Amino acid sequence: MLSRRSLFLLMGGAAALAGAGYGASRVGEQPEPPLPPGQDRQGRLLWRNWSGLQTAYPATRAAPADEGELADILRRAEGPVRAVGSGHSFMPLVPTPGTLVTLDRMSGLAGHDPATGTATVRAGTRLVELGTALAGIGQEMANLPDINKQSLGGALATATHGTGAALPALHGNVTALRLVTAAGEVLDCDASRNPELFAAAKVGLGVFGIVTQATLRNGPLRRVERNVWLQPLEQTLAEWPALRAAHRNVEFYYLPFTDMTAVITHDETDAPATPRPPAQDNEALLDLKRLRDWLGWSPALRRRMAKLALSGLEPEKVVGESWQLLSNERPVRFNEMEYHLPLEAQPQALREVVAVIETNRPDVFFPIEARVIAPDEAWLSPFQGRMTGSIAVHAYYKDNYAFLAALVEPILRRHGGRPHWGKLNSLGTADFAALYPRFAEASALRRSLDPEGRLLNDYLRGIFAHG
Ligand SMILES: Cc1cc2nc3c(=O)[nH]c(=O)nc-3n(C[C@H](O)[C@H](O)[C@H](O)COP(=O)(O)OP(=O)(O)OC[C@H]3O[C@@H](n4cnc5c(N)ncnc54)[C@H](O)[C@@H]3O)c2cc1C
Repeated sequence: MLSRRSLFLLMGGAAALAGAGYGASRVGEQPEPPLPPGQDRQGRLLWRNWSGLQTAYPATRAAPADEGELADILRRAEGPVRAVGSGHSFMPLVPTPGTLVTLDRMSGLAGHDPATGTATVRAGTRLVELGTALAGIGQEMANLPDINKQSLGGALATATHGTGAALPALHGNVTALRLVTAAGEVLDCDASRNPELFAAAKVGLGVFGIVTQATLRNGPLRRVERNVWLQPLEQTLAEWPALRAAHRNVEFYYLPFTDMTAVITHDETDAPATPRPPAQDNEALLDLKRLRDWLGWSPALRRRMAKLALSGLEPEKVVGESWQLLSNERPVRFNEMEYHLPLEAQPQALREVVAVIETNRPDVFFPIEARVIAPDEAWLSPFQGRMTGSIAVHAYYKDNYAFLAALVEPILRRHGGRPHWGKLNSLGTADFAALYPRFAEASALRRSLDPEGRLLNDYLRGIFAHG
């Protein structure tokens, strides 16, 4: 995220204090979470998600090469039949004891139209491959998530988003979808063909069918200038409306127990590309962790040391193609909760989240992320009908994440938030029905396509079977 010029000094100081006996720290490294067995008693292999929280032992795994094979699988396979992308969701959307279907063999560009700036993309395509493929035809997705490891099908299914006041989430630029239903029927949908299914299945969680391809309305390939700088939280909140208006993509991270934010902007430019310096995010993150480990026992000292170190950090500026700069590598695993709030509620909700964490949870060190997303009309889109400000809180994968549900979620719900479908939340049918005006229609449509619920695992049955 930022150059680390003075972090070493800081770390030396913190380590010395800890060594001098001040820091028989109450908050330190937790043991590695236990690994589930690699196979179950029947010899079925383990599937686990990226963070390690979700696991399953599917009876069958299938990798169809085309829609014909997929339709056969959907007609005959043992249920629940669940699609998997790259397993980056934190919620139990994918796990099944039945059939796990990957579209890894159904990836790449299926076609494009330079006149409309659209491209039709097979759903198994990873976003990183899509960036390269679109660049090859002079197109780009102007909004991308924080990482690009997801499959297109998986990203759309949970309303994956980036940031930018004029930019909707990824599904907001989908102009057509093709999916195969539980009965093995191949359906095309867009604004005129099966329009209701189109509105429901754009953010479809794999319950309306398995999406095989999507047509995306893209922008022309652009270079962007990326700027990253630090400033106090209250300054960022005061400037947030102006920052949103001024920058194509803008977000900020609050660094817990520092009072400081890192603001990140991307704006189109014709300037030549500059070399991208080696990513510093993860080293900076591990430094924040060390500070937690050594000085977590004294929030005041931790804050003072952090401020001292951060004051020496240089802003970052780099120019490159948008799809190369918008997404990052995230090798340090975590569990995450993200809620999407009415934009005007975001600053106060964030202040409350920061206060509750800094009062109760000295173990938290992961930056808290705030983004902005333009509205769209998909029935199950958390951005449906309103400008959205999102707040994402992370917990290191070894740390207890119960505080997300106990302390953070009540605040985000009180401010009118809708949870990210792929990230931790404790909501059920009644909650979703209250948050989504078209939830009952979506549920009825799902039932008409899959009356036996063969596409529902236990978690999704709880949400949709009686909705
Ligand atoms: C490190 C990290 C960073 C992240 N950053 C962001 C971010 O910046 N913004 C954001 O919004 N989210 C972010 N996420 C969340 C992530 O984008 C979503 O959880 C996304 O759904 C993951 O895509 P996937 O391919 O891994 O799908 P999976 O997690 O494998 O599956 C997700 C859902 O999609 C369904 N599905 C998969 N393929 C298909 C298909 N072809 N047809 C129908 N349904 C299908 C699955 O059944 C499941 O319900 C992040 C997650 C991680 C771990």
